[in-house]
Parts: sequence; C-alpha cells; structure tokens
Amino acid sequence: MSFDLIIRGGQVVAGDGAPATLDVGVVDGRIAALEPELAGGGAEIIDAAGLLVLPGAVDAHVHLNDPGRTDWEGFATGTAALAAGGTTTAIDMPLNAIPPTVDGAAFAAKVTAARGVTRIDVALWGGLVPGPLDRLDELAAAGVVGFKAFMSASGVAEFVAADDLTLLEGMARAARLGLPVAVHAESDVLTGRLAARALAAGRMGVRDYRASRPVIAEVEAIERAMLFAAETGCALHVVHVSSGRGVTAIAEARARGVDVSCETCPHYLVLDAEDAERLGAAAKCAPPLRPAAVVEELWARLLGGDIDLVATDHSPSPAALKDTGADHFAAWGGIPGAQTLVALLYDSGVVARGLDVARLAALTAGAPAARFGLAPAKGSLTVGVDADLLLLDPAREWLVTRDDLLDRHRLSPFVGRTLRGRVVRTVLRGTTIARDGRLVGEPIGRVLRRDGTPA
Ligand code: ZN
Repeated sequence: MSFDLIIRGGQVVAGDGAPATLDVGVVDGRIAALEPELAGGGAEIIDAAGLLVLPGAVDAHVHLNDPGRTDWEGFATGTAALAAGGTTTAIDMPLNAIPPTVDGAAFAAKVTAARGVTRIDVALWGGLVPGPLDRLDELAAAGVVGFKAFMSASGVAEFVAADDLTLLEGMARAARLGLPVAVHAESDVLTGRLAARALAAGRMGVRDYRASRPVIAEVEAIERAMLFAAETGCALHVVHVSSGRGVTAIAEARARGVDVSCETCPHYLVLDAEDAERLGAAAKCAPPLRPAAVVEELWARLLGGDIDLVATDHSPSPAALKDTGADHFAAWGGIPGAQTLVALLYDSGVVARGLDVARLAALTAGAPAARFGLAPAKGSLTVGVDADLLLLDPAREWLVTRDDLLDRHRLSPFVGRTLRGRVVRTVLRGTTIARDGRLVGEPIGRVLRRDGTPA
C-alpha cells in the first residue's frame, strides 16, 4: 500500500491503552493504517522515534472574537496559537463577536470570518440568551455543537446573562433539539451583591475581587443548573469549574443519573491565589484563581476521574483593557492560554503528578470530541478518522517566552515557566500545520457543523 504520509516509530496513544510503538499511515487526510513497522511507501515520512503521538487536541472553550472584535483576537491569530500548541479543533464561544452567535445570520457571519484564515478546524457554540427560543432551532439547523449560557454577567454588553426562566426553558428546547447546554456557573446574586459592596467600600484590589466570587457562588449555580437539567432532560456541561467542591457536586449528580459533564482549565490547575496577587490583571479570570489547597482538591478530582475534559477558555483582550490601575474589578477577566493546553497538562499532570498519557489524550481530545458531537472523526487515533495529531517530545524542556506566542496580544500568564515536554509538530488531516512552535503552510482549517460536514 502507498500512503501520503507515514509517521514512523512514535509512541502512539490510541484508545485507552498505554503508548505503543506504531506507524501511522495516512491516505487522503485520514488514518488508513496503524500498525508496527508498516509496509509500503509514503510520499512523506516523519520520523517520530522518541516522540509521543497523541490525538490533536480538541479545545472545547475558546473565544476568537471574530467578526467585530478582532482587535481582541481573531481566527487568524487565535488559531495560529492553537495550532502551534497541538490543537487541531477548537469550539468557539458565542459571546465576544459582534454580532454574538445567537441566530442563524450570526452563525453565517462567523463562517465567513473564518473562511480562508482559520489554521485549524473550528466548530461553534451558539448562545442561549433572553429572547425568542426559536433562535435555538435556527442555530441547531446551522450546525452549532450546543448552547452556551451565562448565569452571571458575561462581561460584554451584547451577550446578556440567562435568567432562571431563560435557562430552564432554553434547556427544555435544547433537550428537544438533542443538543447540550454549557453554563458559566456562578451566582449572579452572590457575585453581584458582593462586588457592589466591595466597590462601595473602596475595596478594589485582587483579593477583594477574589472574595466577591467565592466557591459557594460556583457551587450554588452548578446545583441550580443541574436541577434544571434533571427537570428538562437536557445534557448539561459546566465550563471552567474552579473548585473540588464544584466537581464533587457534579460527580454526585452524575451518579444520580443527571446527564452532566464538566471541564476545568489549565489556569485553575497551575496557578493559585498567590499567583493572582503576583500577576495582577494578567491572571484575572472568573471564577477567580483559588488558594493552593483548593487547587490540590481540583487535581485530586481530576486524577480520580471526575473531570471530563480540560479546555483553555482562551479569552484574550488588548493590554489596555487589563490596565485599569488600582481597580481590579474593571480589568477584563480572561486568560489567553490557547497555545499551552497540552504542554501545561503534560508538565503539571503527566510529569509532576503521574497522570496517565492516555488520560491526558482523553481529557484534551477524546472526551470533548465525544461530548460535543465531533467524534468519531475527531478526538482519537484509529483507522478511518481524520489524521489530526500532535507529536510531543517528552525529553524537551523549554521556557515559555512572549516571543514564542502567536496569539494576538501575547499576554499569557504562563510566560516565564519552564515546561517539560514540548509539542514539536501538529498535523491536521494529514498536513503539518505547525512545527516546533512555528506555522507551516497556508491556512487549511474548516468550520465544522456538529454533523462533521464543513459549514
Ligand atoms: Zn470562556
């Protein structure tokens, strides 16, 4: 047999098993063979000896802000960073573009903005906001993977938070459409009142901001969303869970039969409250960074198997929006992490805490692809699926520098960290799109509908 590409001799993570020495043969952008010492020739041969071969990451939570707010981040720059870091598919959040992705016309505007510039494949979340629910039908027909709702203020005026009735009725509609609802789960009442009280007293610092978004505000909103999911039969996904208590609540509901999944983000796993003080606005996010003891609870839940997936919540802004002096509440809350998902999880999970490499692949690719309808084409390495993969050199130590970053503003709070394990190549549908942190070739990414067809 003759192949377009053969990746020879890598430690391939296929399925749930331990890495095995296999060759990957690619024909027409799909994996055509996966076996030791593959016979036959290839137009292109990549020597992967000493490297891990993992499924390309599926980052279920990124904000690409395109069209309308491309001065924050766009498809070109955001997906460049994602590609360099080993991500081959991302799912874009609906809030930061103008218009936000809340109806069929806005979905079409996203597709137009991405066409010809996206470096990786991109699927879209639609928005669940107050207003006519028929828009959810429109978005489903257009091809969104699900609907995102905010239970507290989103940070942008164009995307209004879902009140309880909007959330309850939206979940019922989503259940009928067979699509999941993802929630930013923090109590608007608790966070809003605590923030107002702090500001009225002139308390505007990092610690005051963190105190205005306590773990109980997260846990209460998660419990309320799960109650609505149980009531409506809707599949629920809780984004960026920041506390072990939040994950425990989700695991308990799942054990009762509620269809609920959750994600956390690298920043909740590798940064803590002390980093929040040290880094200031660069590390501002919502929910906020937690004390070290809470971070360790989160790791325990992740290693115990209760966290379904890890996504970046790449949420960049121009530097000026972070530069608000003493008023930390006024700074944009969002962390740009597009490029470091796999590397941070490899370093702090696999190397530092004994996380299984197959589990890393599940957290970053298999689980998000399966949960959001992109499997089997995406998220795993098996014969017949898209040849989306990354090569990681486990022996490479590297320093994250600003010069390495390819996103629009390069304001990552991870700059200055030395990481063990580096993504040295990213392959999308059989074509190398990034090598050793640099882009290769022209953009070949597509916008995907939930059924896998190009939009
Ligand atoms: Zn987000």
